[in-house]
Amino acid sequence: MSKVGAREAPVLGRISVSEIYGPVVQGEGAVIGKPTVFVRTGGCDYRCSWCDTKFAVLPQYRETWKKMTTEEVFAEVRGLSRGRPILVTLSGGNPALQPLGPLVSLGKEHGYGFAIETQGTVARDWFSDLDHLTVSPKPPSSGMETDWGKLSRCLRAGGEDTRATLKVVVFDETDYAYAREVGYRFPEVPVYLQVGNDRPPSPETDDTTEPDDKGLLHRYAWLADKVLADGWNEATVLPQLHVLVWGNSRGV
Ligand code: SF4
Repeated sequence: MSKVGAREAPVLGRISVSEIYGPVVQGEGAVIGKPTVFVRTGGCDYRCSWCDTKFAVLPQYRETWKKMTTEEVFAEVRGLSRGRPILVTLSGGNPALQPLGPLVSLGKEHGYGFAIETQGTVARDWFSDLDHLTVSPKPPSSGMETDWGKLSRCLRAGGEDTRATLKVVVFDETDYAYAREVGYRFPEVPVYLQVGNDRPPSPETDDTTEPDDKGLLHRYAWLADKVLADGWNEATVLPQLHVLVWGNSRGV
C-alpha cells in the first residue's frame, strides 16, 4: 500500500534532471560565449533569495524532474549536439548532489568537454575529470552563509587539467566586500564578478518577467568602476550576457 505524501525514494545511480537544452551560447563565467549544451539537475541544498532557477530547486517542482540513467542523459546531449562533441555544462540546482561521474567519463570517451557550475558546498572525486570547475559562492544578498572549508575542498577537487574559477554575483556594496574577501582567501583562483539580475524569472511568470536592462547596465558600470578604482586587476567583470540578449526566457 502506498503512503500518501511519502517522499519518492532516490533511484540509485539515476540522475535527477530538470531540463536538458541547447546548444546555446554560455552567457556567463569563464567560458562566456562558448557553445554548450546544458544539463540542469533538480535539487539544491541552498535557497538563495534571488535564485533564477527555482523550478530546479524547490520541492514543489520535484514531479517535473526526470530520473534518468547516464546513458539516457548522454543520448539526449548527443542528439542536441547532432553527434558533434561540444562543451556540456552541468548546472542546477546543485549538480554536485547528483551521480554525474559516469556521465563525465562517458562523454569524455566520445570527445565531449565538461564544465560544472556549483556553489561550493559538496566536493566530488569526479570534479578532477572536468575541464572547467566554476565554483560560485553566494554573497550576503542571497541569504546564504558560506562554509569556507567546504568551498576550499571543492576548489581543490579539480584535477591537473581542470580550470577552476570562482564566480561571485554582486548586487550591492556588501556583496562587493564579500567578493573581495573571496579574492583574498583564494588568490590563486581567477575571480569572475557578475552583476546580479534583480528581476529573475519565477516559475509562475517565467517568460513574461523581463529584466531591467538599463538597471543591469548601470550596475555593471558601477561594478566595473569599483574594480578599477580598487586596482583589482586580477578580477574579470562580466554581465549576464544571455539575460541582456534573450531576457528571462528559459532554455537559452
Ligand atoms: S545555489 Fe544556485 S540553484 Fe541553488 S538556490 Fe542558490 S542560486 Fe538557486
